[in-house]
Amino acid sequence: TAIHLLRGVTSSQVPLLQRLRLRTAADVLFRFPRTYQDLTDIRAIGELEAGVTASVCGTVAEVDQKTTSTGKTIIGAVIHDAHGAAMRVMWFNQPFIRSRLQRGKRLMFSGKPKLSGLRWEFVHPRIQPIEETESGEEEVAGEILPVYPLTEGVRQHELRYLAKQTLSDFVRDVDEVLPEEFLEEHKLWSIHQALMQIHFPSDHESLDHARRRFVFQELLALQLALAVRRNQMQSAKKAESLETTAQIDARIRRLFPFEFTDEQNKAISEVVADIALDVPMNRLLQGDVGSGKTVVAIYAMLVAAANGYQAAIMAPTEVLARQHFETLGKALSQARVKLTLWTGSQTAAERRQSLEDIQNGAVDLIVGTQALLHADCEFPNLRLVVVDEQHKFGVQQRARLRESGVAPHYLVMTATPIPRTVAMTAFGDLDTSIIEGHPPGRQELNSYLVSVAKQADWWEFFRKQLRSGRQGYVIVPRLEESESQEIASLVEMFESLCNDELEAFRLDLVHGRLSAEEKQAAMQSFRSGKTQVLVATSVIEVGVDVPNAGVMTIMNGERFGLAQLHQMRGRVGRGIHAGYVGVFHGELAEEKMKRLEAFVSTSNGFKLAELDFEMRGPGDLLGTKQHGLPPLRIADLIRDTEILMEVRDIARQLVDSERFRQPEFARLLDQVTKRYGKRFELGDVG
Ligand code: ADP
Ligand code: MG
Repeated sequence: TAIHLLRGVTSSQVPLLQRLRLRTAADVLFRFPRTYQDLTDIRAIGELEAGVTASVCGTVAEVDQKTTSTGKTIIGAVIHDAHGAAMRVMWFNQPFIRSRLQRGKRLMFSGKPKLSGLRWEFVHPRIQPIEETESGEEEVAGEILPVYPLTEGVRQHELRYLAKQTLSDFVRDVDEVLPEEFLEEHKLWSIHQALMQIHFPSDHESLDHARRRFVFQELLALQLALAVRRNQMQSAKKAESLETTAQIDARIRRLFPFEFTDEQNKAISEVVADIALDVPMNRLLQGDVGSGKTVVAIYAMLVAAANGYQAAIMAPTEVLARQHFETLGKALSQARVKLTLWTGSQTAAERRQSLEDIQNGAVDLIVGTQALLHADCEFPNLRLVVVDEQHKFGVQQRARLRESGVAPHYLVMTATPIPRTVAMTAFGDLDTSIIEGHPPGRQELNSYLVSVAKQADWWEFFRKQLRSGRQGYVIVPRLEESESQEIASLVEMFESLCNDELEAFRLDLVHGRLSAEEKQAAMQSFRSGKTQVLVATSVIEVGVDVPNAGVMTIMNGERFGLAQLHQMRGRVGRGIHAGYVGVFHGELAEEKMKRLEAFVSTSNGFKLAELDFEMRGPGDLLGTKQHGLPPLRIADLIRDTEILMEVRDIARQLVDSERFRQPEFARLLDQVTKRYGKRFELGDVG
């Protein structure tokens, strides 16, 4: 039913409600309160605390009314509680309140108390009548009121009224989504009861029940989608069983100048076990920047090669693909495997050559960018795909690769530490390996906040590092202006550094507008030490490995996300020298400052991710957007971890047992398909 047909909606309200994206009765029912106003805390006046919402039951003693010079009315009253204490209540410009305030009447007043002189005061409290029971006792039902998101011109009480009316007129028309048996099994409320109570809870317990029902349902839909996808990936096609014999293992290890760490060995053994099966591996390898993930990837790729098949690694950027190509080339110079590079910026002729080599089996390992995903060719021999820095790819892109007619084993690597709960949602269809800590010899990483007043000192330190032979980065955030403006301001910054702070040094500039060759040339010159300082936008954020880089300045640190800052600082201190990172910032609001302080307080990426996640809260779920998932509407991954765990197991059981295909789950499946079907390519869920 359209919004303008709802009881009590005036025609002038319609456009405003539409601006709140309330177009139908269903929209109203399913626009849950943002939060609640809790009026259940009844206190004596002596127990009030400044700023803490509470209710006071009191007798109206005096009422006064004034008109200000600007014509506003002020209604005030003094009330007494049962202990004889007094407080003041007042309203501006609400003359109609007057009629509710008869002397001697007992009422409940609810609001945020503040101390005015020596007396407590409520401004614009809510008034509720106090009922008397037959025995003459007072009965006050403190309420928990919904608080809805507003827009200009719409008032809270109007939305409350709308919700109340719509519930009473339409709640019975809402279809139950979950089977009754299932509701009982998991102690979930019916959708009708839950809808009533999520808007107008009778008490805290009911609110918890109602909320649980919807959180449960939302997470169940997501986890079902993930479980179905996982099953599809595992059963759609067979993979090649890639065996790791003791001989292969020894041959691979000999190629590295160092012993693998225990953490690397653990991850390797998990991967080895997976790829030995003829079910495609779908594994996420998480590890902080510099934790040594690439070794694990190379190991797996070499196992594929040793079994006579091809393996590919995809990087998120051209720069990184080329770097991998070089690293692998160096590491494998003693091995008999052959490499080829495949990127978007190669000439058609180069790509044709690569393609030929790939198809006739002349190469074993393919290093590329996403361009690989779009390559209009088959990889008949490809049995393993490694995706580096997955956070740049997202769930949707993963779906695309799977389409291309091959069932390779699949290893996804990310250096963005992901809180466990997020991993279970954004990457819930993958198994997970984690590399904790760093390989030995990793240098200390020191991060500092640099206020405007301290910038000169920082640059002095920066120059000292350069003079002692280190190289450095200066990172400039992307601006939200047009690209040309952005480049212009970057160039300006570059020139001022060249002429001022870093006058005596060799600087170079890298940004997104450069061609692949230009970028590559700049990186090459930096790697070789010819360039001492690389000024860059965040293009260097992922993976760049220049061991001599020891110092980094990050301009306007507040413009970066914490995960991104962490990625960037991982670029320094990779060799035998300690790393130093200075984060420039201006005057910041407390909250932003707190984030940056958290950043410099720890160099542990996982700890930082949890901190970031807690600070940013559910409204800004760590990159669900980035990960290609629609935002969660009611579930909060911090608060609802337990439900998430529970629901994940339930979803897997429902899918494994095929129970979810029974007709009683049709409605839920419909929701799953609507919300996730396209994204996850869940063709035949229903
Ligand atoms: P990530 O990809 O996880 O950021 P890398 O695989 O690039 O990390 O490794 C970071 C650095 O540590 C590289 O220079 C690599 O050669 C080195 N490294 C990796 N594993 C070890 C190890 N077991 N012992 C010593 N150095 C290692
Ligand atoms: Mg890496």
